Amino acid sequence: MARRALIVGGSIGGLAAAALLDRSGWDVEVFERVEVELSGRGAGIVTHPPLLEALKAAGADTGDLGVVSEYRVGFDAAGAEIARFAFPQLVTSWDCLQARLRARVPDDRYHLGHVLQSFASDGGRVQARFANGHEAEGDLLLGADGFRSTVRQALFPQVRPDYAGYVVWRGLVSEADLPAAARDQVFDHFGFHLPEGDGEVIGYPIAGPENDLRPGHRRYNFVWYRTASAEQLRDMLTDEAGVTHDLSIPPPLIRRDVLAGLKADARAKLPANLIAMLDHAHSLFFTPIYDLASPAMTALSVALAGDAAFLARPHIGAGVTKACEDAVALAECLAGDRPVAEGLRAYEAARLAANRKAWARSRYMGEYLMPQFGDAAGKAEWAAQHNLHTIMRDTAVLNFA
Ligand SMILES: Cc1cc2nc3c(=O)[nH]c(=O)nc-3n(C[C@H](O)[C@H](O)[C@H](O)COP(=O)(O)OP(=O)(O)OC[C@H]3O[C@@H](n4cnc5c(N)ncnc54)[C@H](O)[C@@H]3O)c2cc1C
Repeated sequence: MARRALIVGGSIGGLAAAALLDRSGWDVEVFERVEVELSGRGAGIVTHPPLLEALKAAGADTGDLGVVSEYRVGFDAAGAEIARFAFPQLVTSWDCLQARLRARVPDDRYHLGHVLQSFASDGGRVQARFANGHEAEGDLLLGADGFRSTVRQALFPQVRPDYAGYVVWRGLVSEADLPAAARDQVFDHFGFHLPEGDGEVIGYPIAGPENDLRPGHRRYNFVWYRTASAEQLRDMLTDEAGVTHDLSIPPPLIRRDVLAGLKADARAKLPANLIAMLDHAHSLFFTPIYDLASPAMTALSVALAGDAAFLARPHIGAGVTKACEDAVALAECLAGDRPVAEGLRAYEAARLAANRKAWARSRYMGEYLMPQFGDAAGKAEWAAQHNLHTIMRDTAVLNFA
């Protein structure tokens, strides 16, 4: 009889693991907290070759995945192009990846509205309990339940998300809504701009709604990293009703004055072509940036994958890629009749160091947002490492392996 994997979290990491373990001969059940099919609000996802390989291994459709941005382009304070080099990169969207992987998991194996509450494992069978009263038993429990992971908290309660000191604002702009000048200067490329003393703006084209790739129907993914003290973050996480949310705030609850402040700052600090992007962006929201690294990725008959194990800052653009690499490694290590304990040891050996490296690199990439130099030499070194050129060269590039 096939061994059974209980997968907690039905987002990209959980779906990839389900599809790949299924192909390795496992019986899979996915339990997702949210009650309706997931949506990523169209967020853009930069791809890397290992992600495409993982999708293929999972049997997912990889045709027409997104938009290829051919060049990386840097803008100065006036919005003039001051740097450009060819760097073709496929940018897809969270929704597209989710849909492609979701299609690989049968509906009767994907259970919405199941919030994992607790589990027990003695190193053999594992039992899981859900808030709706459902109980399940299997040979493996996979925590693919994101950076707030219930599974990780049970295994490693000392590991908590650590606020990095800045947030990332994101918004989508319909290509058709853009003034011609902004469209011509900015839309087609992976763009970069460093506003004086106020973080970093990047952006790139992605598909339109329903994965529409036709010119004129696509969208631009606008991104602005901005520092915010712990006190400022607490204020930003407080909604109109005065409720302060823990770790992040649902986008519809972001206060109007916080959004108005962002737009006012944009008008004061960004060049006209980027103000146009922000002015036409819909559903603007922010995500606080946290660091999180687990000391291990397995314990007993339990494994962690994706953000549940390591939350890398978005500068390397690889969270989805590494979640899918985890899934590939897990399915390979647990294929055939290999004992689960042995397979999990192999999984940890394959992925722990790689995840640590990605996590450390993402922190290094984010450091420049908060320069902390002790003296002139430190300041010079920092400036040499963190400038428009290095940021254009290193952002969303896996050049650190
Ligand atoms: C600004 C920004 C830009 C990014 N850009 C990129 C990029 O360009 N490329 C890239 O590869 N990555 C990018 N990422 C990272 C990427 O989005 C994440 O790393 C990735 O989505 C993590 O997937 P996951 O499946 O591990 O976790 P998640 O997507 O967080 O999924 C966890 C799932 O578990 C569910 N869940 C949680 N708790 C429970 C529970 N108790 N019971 C049941 N279900 C539960 C949740 O509802 C959720 O569906 C970016 C991230 C940010 C913030």
